Amino acid sequence: MLKDQDRIFTNLYGMHDRSLKGAQARGHWDGTAGILGKGRDWIVDEMKKSGLRGRGGAGFPTGLKWSFMPKQSDGRPAYLVINADESEPATCKDREIMRHDPHTLIEGALIASFAMQAHACYIYIRGEYIREKEALQAAIDECYDAGLVGPNACGSGWDFDVYLHHGAGAYICGEETALLESLEGKKGMPRMKPPFPAGAGLYGCPTTVNNVESIAVVPTILRRGGEWFAGFGRPNNAGVKLYAMSGHVNTPCVIEESMSISMKELIEKHGGGVRGGWSNLKAVIPGGASCPILPADLCDAAIMDYDGMRELKSSFGTACMIVMDQSTDVIKAVWRLSKFFKHESCGQCTPCREGTGWMMRVMERLVTGEAEVEEIDMLLSVTKQVEGHTICALGDAAAWPIQGLIRHYREEIEDRIKAKKTGRMGAMAAE
Ligand code: SF4
Repeated sequence: MLKDQDRIFTNLYGMHDRSLKGAQARGHWDGTAGILGKGRDWIVDEMKKSGLRGRGGAGFPTGLKWSFMPKQSDGRPAYLVINADESEPATCKDREIMRHDPHTLIEGALIASFAMQAHACYIYIRGEYIREKEALQAAIDECYDAGLVGPNACGSGWDFDVYLHHGAGAYICGEETALLESLEGKKGMPRMKPPFPAGAGLYGCPTTVNNVESIAVVPTILRRGGEWFAGFGRPNNAGVKLYAMSGHVNTPCVIEESMSISMKELIEKHGGGVRGGWSNLKAVIPGGASCPILPADLCDAAIMDYDGMRELKSSFGTACMIVMDQSTDVIKAVWRLSKFFKHESCGQCTPCREGTGWMMRVMERLVTGEAEVEEIDMLLSVTKQVEGHTICALGDAAAWPIQGLIRHYREEIEDRIKAKKTGRMGAMAAE
């Protein structure tokens, strides 16, 4: 288990004072000007050494992403944008940072912005996060009053402004280019890439978009050293991470742990175990709704990191697990996710706009058993036609849970169809 002295988030549960005074007492904003004084190259190198990979789901190396920003300005300003539009079903880790430990995010924003020559940072927060917005704005105001941000931030000579932008609740605005469109006051619709945001992002200027957790861990990494952070987890999967557990666990929670911890240990030690015991486990969706479902037999030895989940043909995502016990109708659970993705499709590209609705409707019939067995392969084929053929990853996100369901629960789907045909079960309505 991660030792207390190695925890980055020391007020995850809001038990302590979240104000600037409290944050400083816990070590935040300590020697920030000194960190900036070491220069941009040192900061980016140290981040590369730490092995930190983006905590928003895609897992792209953070230091490398920062190094894509232009070294010399061509006259355009550069921006850091923090993606706080945490909207993936089951994902609820960034909100704990924003409402209980906001100063670590603001300090990280200053350091990251300095490393990328950005004088301004925009934090785009999810529309439903009202209390989180209030806590974060209060912390930003405290920082302005104390001179930690604003002109000559922390006495470093660097001018830095931070703006909190409140979204309106669309899931798609968590996609980085849709987020930029929304920030510019337009409809949140993803842009074609290239150009990538580092070349032309917010207002057509060089921009890096990072997740809340990725930025909030930066100050501690730089204070303790990249090697310290890289010492947790295994190669290519370094560091400590916020995990979350919801669903059929006895004590749903958000917890900071080392990368590459086993799924079973996480659920048993921190989630209080599966309701009814480990043998009552049916499935886990490991990292937010878009990650393919894993059946219980694969969960026994599952390693919670990027490579561990990839080996099991799933995805680490945001490491926020949905745990399901034997009482769960997994077909219905995945249908519900299909309904979500259909609702959140922005409608720009045909495979996603039409495909998400099509997939949801077939899933609906699989739930009730009123489908033909051949439709299972037809549905699988449609998911393959959507996957990889859309502007943004929402198409993939809609396809993957269904692919995972068919991979692991085909028999259960077929049984239901056969049972319906032979009248061995009553119709189950998809509500
Ligand atoms: Fe919009 Fe879906 Fe296309 Fe993404 S994949 S741009 S959400 S229609």
